[in-house]
Amino acid sequence: MAELRDERPESLIAAVPATSRAMPHPASSGEPLRALSSITLPPLITALAYFLAAELGGRLAFPSAPVSAIWAPNAILLAALILAPRERWWAYLLAVLPFHFAAQLPDLAFRQVLIQYVANGTESLLGAWVLQRYWQQPRCLDRVRTAFVLVGFAAILAPLITSVLVAGAFTAVHVSDEFWLVVSARTLTNAFAIIALVPLIVHGRERFRSGPREVPFDRVAEAAVLTACLAAVGVVMFAHPATTGLPLTWAAYAPLPFLVWAAMRFGTTGACAAALLLGGLSTWGVLNGHGPFVTGDPVHSALSVVTFQVFAAALLLVFASLMEERKAAAVAEDEARNQRLQLAHLGRVAVLGQLSAAFAHELNQPLTSIMGNAEAAIRMLSSGVIDRRELESILLDILHDDERASQVIQRLRSLLSKGETQRNPMNLNAVVQEVLQLTRSELLTRNVCVTTDFDAQLQAVPGDRVQVQQVVLNLLMNACDAMSNVPPSQRKLTLTTRSEAGGASVELAIEDSGAGIPSGEAERIFQPFVTTKSFGMGLGLAICRSVAEAHHGRLWAENRSGGGAVFRLRLPADGG
Ligand code: ADP
Repeated sequence: MAELRDERPESLIAAVPATSRAMPHPASSGEPLRALSSITLPPLITALAYFLAAELGGRLAFPSAPVSAIWAPNAILLAALILAPRERWWAYLLAVLPFHFAAQLPDLAFRQVLIQYVANGTESLLGAWVLQRYWQQPRCLDRVRTAFVLVGFAAILAPLITSVLVAGAFTAVHVSDEFWLVVSARTLTNAFAIIALVPLIVHGRERFRSGPREVPFDRVAEAAVLTACLAAVGVVMFAHPATTGLPLTWAAYAPLPFLVWAAMRFGTTGACAAALLLGGLSTWGVLNGHGPFVTGDPVHSALSVVTFQVFAAALLLVFASLMEERKAAAVAEDEARNQRLQLAHLGRVAVLGQLSAAFAHELNQPLTSIMGNAEAAIRMLSSGVIDRRELESILLDILHDDERASQVIQRLRSLLSKGETQRNPMNLNAVVQEVLQLTRSELLTRNVCVTTDFDAQLQAVPGDRVQVQQVVLNLLMNACDAMSNVPPSQRKLTLTTRSEAGGASVELAIEDSGAGIPSGEAERIFQPFVTTKSFGMGLGLAICRSVAEAHHGRLWAENRSGGGAVFRLRLPADGG
């Protein structure tokens, strides 16, 4: 038996990233400077943003409550760590240190600022570490799993753990004795900022890296209308004097359609931006003493508005990531289908290319016959003795031959067509018969004796006629190749169709008397690029199996007890 080879192109066997093969550039004088700025600039920008966010957080503190409306420094540090390689994390933590003290020291005691710095750093490190450790694409925050990790761990658990430590330390050094207030306020304000800001920063940075993109006008217009609607609803429901004291459920449901709109049409970025806008408006309401969150107790008001923001942002982010994931899956499915179609088309072109001599012969026959008949008619006309019956019969023969030639061309054209997958009722017997007609001359030339045993009662099954024809064509040509070393008198091909499992499926068996499949390789031959032929590409069976699977059917092979192989194609009667 022939030896199986792996015909994968080298690039597929060992894909080496192009960058690692690139020739090193000769060092230029500006290079060390550029390298230095690429190491120091991102931590410095992060530290500056951290400082500004801490300043803003201080200014947005609720009056008479130790809670800031939004505490974004930790979210900024977390986003920066997610984007940075792990070995550079120390640079970010170091760069943030003086800025943290500069922002906090004027108002707070040194030991309190130090405790907060350690807690903020630990919280961001924990979140970034878990995201990088358990998710290969920590920057894809538009996947459900990452969104859950971000919300569950980075935004809730890590701030909760560090807040407990902060509250414990505050109590120990007599900075504050309101343990649970510190825990809940710090956890909630951090959580909202992390959920709403981290995806915006990470995706914004990735988009900036990939270069400018043209945004269609209708998209900009839609975003503007959405922002205006959400802002209007937010102002009316959360920041208007008239809504003070209204049941919260009323206000909470009102922006829902706009939040869903943002998540569905603008993904995680839109969802986070909408959550921020809503968070900003509801905070503004509480700061000004308006809206449904305002109660007699300022601490209670502050905590309830931030709790609402955390819930809204978390739900919105998970919902948006679910939408994005479904969209990505549909795009991937579409691409895979296109590639399969392309591959199937190439496969057909390749097989038909091998059969070109047989087709030329197939076409030659009717054309020669047409020419002979036309010459006979001309001779009859020029002799002056016109036998009307004979002339009519000649013309009918010409018509018949023309029909034959056009059928050959028609079959070839349909097999070469590149169209979309069809799902029409087809009779497997007829499909096989058409392929046999197409390959008649080839089978004759190869001295293959074909026997058919068709089930006359075979029911029609839904499928793509052209694709199934390709499968049959491939299997026939493979069987012929497998019999090429067998004496011509023993080259036998049997095609059988049967209805299976009480009509639940139909099956075609193609049996040959060839060399058989190398032992233990009956599955491997269906893998791409596996071939024993010197001229083979090893793609035919892989394509055939993908066609069978696209029909929710099966294609498999086994050796026959008397020698040779049998390939079976089973297709479900209800299309799966
Ligand atoms: P290719 O025809 O280019 O080799 P295929 O995917 O169609 O690619 O076939 C893969 C391998 O499967 C063939 O090289 C051959 O070794 C084996 N094979 C296919 N059909 C048969 C058969 N009828 N009998 C024995 N071996 C077969």
